[in-house]
Amino acid sequence: KEVVSKNFIEQIIEKDLAEGKYETICTRFPPEPNGYLHIGHAKSILLNYGLSQEYNGKFNLRFDDTNPTKEKIEFVESIQADVKWLGADWEDRLFFASNYFDQMYEAAIKLIKKGKAFVCDLTAEQIREYRGTLTEPGKNSPYRDRSVEENLDLFERMKNGEFEDGTKVLRAKIDMASPNINMRDPVIYRVAHMTHHNTGDKWCIYPMYDFAHPIEDAIEGVTHSICTLEFEDHRPLYDWVVRELEYQYPPKQIEFAKLYLTNVVTGKRYIKRLVEEGIVDGWDDPRLVSIAALRRRGFTPESIKMFVELCGVSKANSSVDYAMLEYCIREDLKLKRSRVMAILDPVKLIIDNYPEGQIEELEAPNNMENETLGTRKVPFGKELYIEREDFMVEPPKKYKRLYPGNEVRLMNAYFVTCVGYDTDEDGNVTAVHCTYDPASKGGNSPDGRKVKGTIHWVSAQDNVQAEVRLYENIIDEEKGVYNEDGSLNLNPNSLTVLKNCYVEKSLKDAKAYDSFQFVRNGFFCVDAKDSKEGALVFNRIVSLKSSFKL
Ligand code: ATP
Ligand code: MG
Ligand code: MG
Repeated sequence: KEVVSKNFIEQIIEKDLAEGKYETICTRFPPEPNGYLHIGHAKSILLNYGLSQEYNGKFNLRFDDTNPTKEKIEFVESIQADVKWLGADWEDRLFFASNYFDQMYEAAIKLIKKGKAFVCDLTAEQIREYRGTLTEPGKNSPYRDRSVEENLDLFERMKNGEFEDGTKVLRAKIDMASPNINMRDPVIYRVAHMTHHNTGDKWCIYPMYDFAHPIEDAIEGVTHSICTLEFEDHRPLYDWVVRELEYQYPPKQIEFAKLYLTNVVTGKRYIKRLVEEGIVDGWDDPRLVSIAALRRRGFTPESIKMFVELCGVSKANSSVDYAMLEYCIREDLKLKRSRVMAILDPVKLIIDNYPEGQIEELEAPNNMENETLGTRKVPFGKELYIEREDFMVEPPKKYKRLYPGNEVRLMNAYFVTCVGYDTDEDGNVTAVHCTYDPASKGGNSPDGRKVKGTIHWVSAQDNVQAEVRLYENIIDEEKGVYNEDGSLNLNPNSLTVLKNCYVEKSLKDAKAYDSFQFVRNGFFCVDAKDSKEGALVFNRIVSLKSSFKL
């Protein structure tokens, strides 16, 4: 492995280990099961998992399911599938924060007994008013000085369901004059008569995130609790909670910058709208960057890992170009996948001097840059399909492909010379006629004659018909992410469906998620949702050319 300087989180961990603050480390990925994971979460997953591997520690997958309003089992399942697919192995360390509700309740009682928490009857709006502003200190709640006994009694009655939603909360007693608004007696428990996906109707009070999260970390023995930058101002409260609860090995929170990508939609709100309005085909539409969408599009876990490593870990927010993600998948697939022939926009090529009815099986290397992938047989005959753009009646200068009188190489096959073409009554080319040189079999002529162009082809007699879907970014950022009315400025060309494509016979049994290079056209993946035996559908993962350079 090349020598790279350690990122700031690694530096913190190494210092903590060197000072004996912790014996081993434990990290966690703590998704709230309220939606599908996206590329940003992948960064967090691979970062946390990677650190646990690097320092021989532990990695927890913990569902942060303390808010019953938006959470669903469907998401618990999709998140596990996505984390597993990314290769972050939590082994037997799968946890649900909702299993700690008893401990959280006990923790709240401990704070009350220490005089560090009180039951408050102010309404949500009053609490906001009392809280003050960045420039003005807040005011103490009139309920702040309730006795420990009264607080214990009221809190128990909150738990027992004696109060309506919103009529009472439990607040930490910290400092209404703190310059950090999060420290101005934050609410730590609220009444919510709601059914929870895990605990059902057992609870009608639920802890707030800032109180629950440090407790979850402490219970699990998490040492480094890595979150994104917007929680930086919450760290004093995190530290207050672990200190007041007197945990022996207090976990520590570390913040890093979120990953943002250009030209894609990451906001859950927007994706939801695209799904609901039918603009995209579900959460896994290949134009999205949910993990499920990336998988369906044909991205590999390795490519995503390479991407997040290239992005690095920092404290500064920035956006990464989508082209960098494309670079990573190209790099990953380049040597691993077979390079096969597929015609996306077919026109017929007829070899006038090729024997009628004869079919040859020509040998083709699967990947010229990686011999270990072996070879395959490709059927060749009198009638082939070529790409429409590989023939021109009147070619511009420098055009090296087929035009009347020109000779080209049919990849892995023969030299052919164009001798004419057929048109329909509107002048559209319906077939191109060639003659072939039988001596040039394999793609070289014994007389050393050179040709400038090489084109790919698929037998017109023995092939597999397929649908191919081409994608562009769903948002064209150069024209602005949003329209004047606040709606997303969608790229109308983000999806092109080609129904009449021909791929070589070797792809007949291709299965969901199988991917290939279609020579000259890009990398393609069998669509997991719509592809069927006998009716293959391919998604273009990425084209072959890139403007992105490392
Ligand atoms: P949302 O508020 O849309 O649900 P979230 O960040 O709250 O997004 P969680 O399920 O709470 O989603 O996140 C789980 C973990 O993923 C958190 O630790 C969070 O910091 C991290 N995470 C979320 N988005 C990104 C991102 N864009 N880049 C890096 N990490 C992220
Ligand atoms: Mg979330
Ligand atoms: Mg969240």
